[in-house]
Amino acid sequence: MDTHSLNADLHCHSHVSDGTLAPAEVVRRAHANGVELLALTDHDETGGLDEAADAARALGLRFLAGVEVSVTWAHETIHVVGLGVDRRDPQLLQGLAATRGGRDARGREMADQLAQVGIPGAYEGAMAYAGNPALLSRTHFARYMVDHGFCADVAEVFRDYLVEGKPGFVPHRWARLGDAVRWISEAGGLAVLAHPARYDLTDQQLSALVDEFRTAGGRGIEVISGSHSPEDVERFAGIARHAGLLASRGSDFHDPDESRFDLGRMPPLPASLTPTWTALADRWSSA
Ligand code: AMP
Ligand code: MN
Ligand code: MN
Ligand code: MN
Repeated sequence: MDTHSLNADLHCHSHVSDGTLAPAEVVRRAHANGVELLALTDHDETGGLDEAADAARALGLRFLAGVEVSVTWAHETIHVVGLGVDRRDPQLLQGLAATRGGRDARGREMADQLAQVGIPGAYEGAMAYAGNPALLSRTHFARYMVDHGFCADVAEVFRDYLVEGKPGFVPHRWARLGDAVRWISEAGGLAVLAHPARYDLTDQQLSALVDEFRTAGGRGIEVISGSHSPEDVERFAGIARHAGLLASRGSDFHDPDESRFDLGRMPPLPASLTPTWTALADRWSSA
């Protein structure tokens, strides 16, 4: 089989984090869209993986257990996707529990700030959208604010609120880069730098991030992502080649109406890159 052209979608979310579909619904939608290899990568959580793996097995869809770990690096929030992890690895589970631990207190502070600018009830409001109360996310606040008429869409929320310098932004310390990469690697997984175009870093900082990520044991970088423009794809294809990183492809799907790409509906990985999934071929579970 030519695995380069496999329709692999190795980054997406269920309502166990900030997606809106149940894990099994994500799997069925991916299958219906023609995805041939799927990884569910909820934020800081592995709680949807059993359901997703069962649903994938029932459909004969190849599946990898995944997770997206929130990291603080040089005052920036960076996301590291882990692919092909052992979803029962105790160190990984403990690390993720510690990482998501501060979300509730952070959510209460965010709501206090929003109340001061005329947006009341945001903690309870956001919580009503959270499929998993342990994973209260800015996305849930954004959905509350849109549905209650405070903003026209989610993009407007993330422009005028919840981001640095705007009401509702509460700085948070997530996992350390080296720890996140180690939890993933020692759980048998492959660590991938998620949506690198999203970070507010200079070229020099980005290169330092890639160096530190590789030194820690990170092996892949997302080239195709719902966050990447065609120019970003070119740029990060070059960085993947230059740094000797495996190239990954993921929609970062959260919801049928919110997400830029539906599951599996992204452009193919550029030729001459080595896909992350070739290095994980022994981990695809099939029917
Ligand atoms: P949190 O982990 O609670 O800080 O929330 C981060 C999540 O917010 C990301 O995983 C995205 O789903 C969402 N998000 C961040 N920035 C944006 C944006 N500009 N537009 C839409 N969603 C965003
Ligand atoms: Mn998200
Ligand atoms: Mn992310
Ligand atoms: Mn994501």
